[in-house]
Amino acid sequence: MGRKKKKNNNNQSSANDNDKNVMNHEQEATPARFEDDNMDEVTEVSNLDESMCEFDESVIGSDKTSADYYFDSYSHFGIHEVSELHLSWSTLIILSLNMDGLVVPEMLKDVVRTKTYQNVIYKNSFLVKDKIVMDVGAGTGILSLFCAKAGAKHVYAIECSHMADMAEEIIKENGYSDAITVLKGKVEEVELPVAQVDLIISEWMGYFLLFENMLDTVLYARDKWLVNDGLVLPDKASLFLTAIEDADYKEDKIEFWNTVYGFNMSCIKKQAMLEPLVDTVDQNQIVTNCQLLKVTMDISKMSSGDASFTAPFKLVAERNDYVHALVAYFDVSFTKCHKLMGFSTGPRSRATHWKQTVLYLEDVLTICEGESIVGSMTVAPNKKNPRDVDIMVKYSLNGQRSQVSRTQYYKMRVPKHFLNARQSSSVTE
Ligand code: SAH
Repeated sequence: MGRKKKKNNNNQSSANDNDKNVMNHEQEATPARFEDDNMDEVTEVSNLDESMCEFDESVIGSDKTSADYYFDSYSHFGIHEVSELHLSWSTLIILSLNMDGLVVPEMLKDVVRTKTYQNVIYKNSFLVKDKIVMDVGAGTGILSLFCAKAGAKHVYAIECSHMADMAEEIIKENGYSDAITVLKGKVEEVELPVAQVDLIISEWMGYFLLFENMLDTVLYARDKWLVNDGLVLPDKASLFLTAIEDADYKEDKIEFWNTVYGFNMSCIKKQAMLEPLVDTVDQNQIVTNCQLLKVTMDISKMSSGDASFTAPFKLVAERNDYVHALVAYFDVSFTKCHKLMGFSTGPRSRATHWKQTVLYLEDVLTICEGESIVGSMTVAPNKKNPRDVDIMVKYSLNGQRSQVSRTQYYKMRVPKHFLNARQSSSVTE
């Protein structure tokens, strides 16, 4: 994978590099992102509209969820793409390391991600010092270590996978055993030795922000243990949408199935269209503006239901081009820092392991500069497996050269073997 031609297509570059990038990388595209508190006003949003979001399985095809793929990974078409076996090196590494959640290098080597958390904690030690902290989904314990080093009174590192044992060892090895207690188990099930915590830190974000639905776990912890004026880090998350030209890659990923060594495999094409593709997008492919899709989520206040929504969008073409896909990405921010901090996973920013989420359109839109693709996106957890995400997109273009109106359904169902993070909770399920 990886159509990205940008030089910065490496999320393992130097940390110094990243220091410069963390806050500035998206400013060109969306200047107000980290500066304008009124960004919530950009779009309207409603909670899930029942009638709109009845995802009809007969329409959207197979009801396989990620859990099914976990036991039957070869049933996913991705593994059968015979042309080049489109597995990135990182995916291959993931495949080989994906035993019992041993996938952490991908996340830890994501400098944008990890360095942002480190900077947030070290440069804002006033948020952490003498506080009781809970690390929700601690993994290796890296965020707990940052907090302990910044002077936290005590850190409770909760991790449900066997990585908890590693975290314990790492914490001991680094001399922080007195400051950090690892609790192995699900946040929803562990018994905490204290009644309340002052601060919750977590890196819960999944592909398309909401895939894997770990946000619910953070909200659960917040409601159960956080003191009244306590903090959640990060505290804001936003989803964005744009549209791209992607002829070559659509041909390769979707049209490929039309004729495979002379045989029609277009039934797989339908499946491929349904599954959003997690991949890096070259910023030169962007045809329209990037729009805030969902009112910025305030993790310190929101309820679990707010992660299901219908949001309108209007994407205005910035040049004459063809549009093959919509692209979603997210930003997170830590607004309680002395200076606003955060990062973007957008195509104009330095690459992260989340890449972007590409949703191919049935139609190729011939769009002229100034014309708009208008529509709405409905997002909801899958009923059968709430860690998966169902997406419905309604879009129309009433342009000079293209008049299209359509509804498309997508299912975020990354097979377990393709996941590069967070899935380890299922290990203990
Ligand atoms: N905090 C670490 C790991 C983040 S990945 C870091 O920043 O590197 C998220 C972690 O949360 C995974 O290790 C996963 O196993 C864990 N996790 C997911 N759901 C959980 C739950 N309900 N309870 C406890 N841990 C959970």
